[in-house]
Amino acid sequence: MKMKKCDNGHLFNSEKFEECPYCSETAPVAKKSKEKSRPERAVRQKENNDMRTQAIWSDEGTEDYVVGWLTCIEGPDKGNDYQIKSEKNFIGRSEEMHIQIQGDSAISRRNHAIISYNPKERNFILIPGEGRGIIYKSTEAIYTPTELNGYDVIEMGKSKFIFVPLCGDYFEWENVGENI
Ligand SMILES: [Zn+2]
Repeated sequence: MKMKKCDNGHLFNSEKFEECPYCSETAPVAKKSKEKSRPERAVRQKENNDMRTQAIWSDEGTEDYVVGWLTCIEGPDKGNDYQIKSEKNFIGRSEEMHIQIQGDSAISRRNHAIISYNPKERNFILIPGEGRGIIYKSTEAIYTPTELNGYDVIEMGKSKFIFVPLCGDYFEWENVGENI
């Protein structure tokens, strides 16, 4: 047996191995296992920590945090998304609106509709605005406040929007750091 020492100081049988088996074996494996074992939990934990930090930083509560989204799936603004915040979100073309939909002239400038998130009930309500245009929830005309469920399609003007909730049964900003 002819022993040889590699650059990293490993002793190995040079008759059997051309290169240091420890280095050639450990190097790629270590790298691979590091990538592979980058545990999902660690990643999630990091995200949690970030969120927790955020929650601690905001002494003023969570009312400005996003609670859901609208995404335009049909119409001039197709592909755009709009944040829904807690409590009332006024929808219209005007800059003053919480949810400003710029491209569709068939949408009223002000208060075409309202989406309200009630943090106590943990539900989303679609409320028709004061404009002439009828709004529809999944082809049903809406004349009174109506609860929204995830992936409901809202039609306003010449546009359609899909509703995606963040808060509700599965997530609540207040619970970050406790259950999440
Ligand atoms: Zn070695």
